[in-house]
Amino acid sequence: MRYDVAIVGAGIAGASLAAEIAPHARVLLLEGEDRPGYHATGRSAAFWSESYGGPAIQPLTTASGPMLRPYLEPMGSVHIGRADEAGAIDAFLAEFEGTGVELRRVDPQAMIPGLRPEWTLGVLEPSCEYIDVGGLHGDQLAVAKRGGAELVTGAGVLAARRENGAWKIETRAGSFEADVLVDAAGAWADPVAEMAGVRPLGIRPYRRTIMQLKTDPAPAPGSPMVAHIGGSFYWKPEAGGRVWLSPHDEIETPPCDAQPEDIDVATAIDRFEHVVDWRVEKLEHKWAGLRTFAPDRLPVYGFDPHAPGFFWCAGQGGFGIQTAPAAAKLAAALLHVAPDPVVAGIDPARYAPERFNRG
Ligand SMILES: Cc1cc2nc3c(=O)[nH]c(=O)nc-3n(C[C@H](O)[C@H](O)[C@H](O)COP(=O)(O)OP(=O)(O)OC[C@H]3O[C@@H](n4cnc5c(N)ncnc54)[C@H](O)[C@@H]3O)c2cc1C
Repeated sequence: MRYDVAIVGAGIAGASLAAEIAPHARVLLLEGEDRPGYHATGRSAAFWSESYGGPAIQPLTTASGPMLRPYLEPMGSVHIGRADEAGAIDAFLAEFEGTGVELRRVDPQAMIPGLRPEWTLGVLEPSCEYIDVGGLHGDQLAVAKRGGAELVTGAGVLAARRENGAWKIETRAGSFEADVLVDAAGAWADPVAEMAGVRPLGIRPYRRTIMQLKTDPAPAPGSPMVAHIGGSFYWKPEAGGRVWLSPHDEIETPPCDAQPEDIDVATAIDRFEHVVDWRVEKLEHKWAGLRTFAPDRLPVYGFDPHAPGFFWCAGQGGFGIQTAPAAAKLAAALLHVAPDPVVAGIDPARYAPERFNRG
């Protein structure tokens, strides 16, 4: 059978796009792993924050909010800084002025028990929420299948070539044919493009580490996420009174099954202990994943201008979950399948592959 659209990668990007277009097209979803969500999607910190990623990501995040509603749970976040970071706090507030994102100055000492005295500056982002990533991803895959999409796992794409207006796709699970090839391969977006004879965009993966801590005291029920305005840590309260902590690391690495490094774990705990006087009782769990960025740190959605039938859905960075529903609608509209008014206010040009000069 010849498919209309073959999507490479069944993480949140590929799954959401498949769910969006399956009722309107014959869709094939090819996943290299046996379990979709094994890579970035299954390793996220699982929050939705309109400020995260800056004002150029925010329209996708904000537009996704209502569609994510069943998977969101209130949390709030406080961005904190020391006196010498007043400029960074001012710049952060200025960046989001006029965007509709609610940000207000607060005294972090009044919000975070045990906060060390030098942390005097704070900005509250009340709209920040938890995301049930597993629920969202599982539902997107189910919706895609109900819509008629075919998911093939263990189907790592090895090569693809364009012949007579169609892609012949060789995978570990056999050969397939489709009119359009969508590259939603996360950290492997550039290598997958190269397998299809398409020039890469310079999309690179960077490792990020997270750990689960048992602390004394445990974060109080209902306490907010805490993020450093200078980008050297964040933590969020989790079920069972636990803390998920990240050193906000961003270490370039080849695409791989990312694993946490001891040095990053130690750095995170050291930073944490310089922020609050809580005792770290136990490191219960640690993991790492890849956040994958285009050179300008914005995602790439659209047909490649030099490769007929090749569509980029890549470079979602650290924001691919919270932007997934709107991004899928945008991509569906750009694929000329199922245009949707939700994306009408979003300028696709800022995410278009044309913005890269590949010589
Ligand atoms: C530690 C961490 C914390 C994060 N926290 C957040 C957060 O709080 N909120 C948020 O919105 N985002 C967060 N992110 C970012 C988010 O996880 C990613 O942006 C998102 O998961 C990217 O989705 P994806 O589908 O593009 O990638 P992936 O989930 O990596 O999916 C790509 C898929 O492509 C498959 N693939 C690759 N090559 C091939 C091939 N040749 N053939 C077939 N299949 C192939 C892979 O196996 C993989 O399953 C975080 C990321 C990390 C690592």
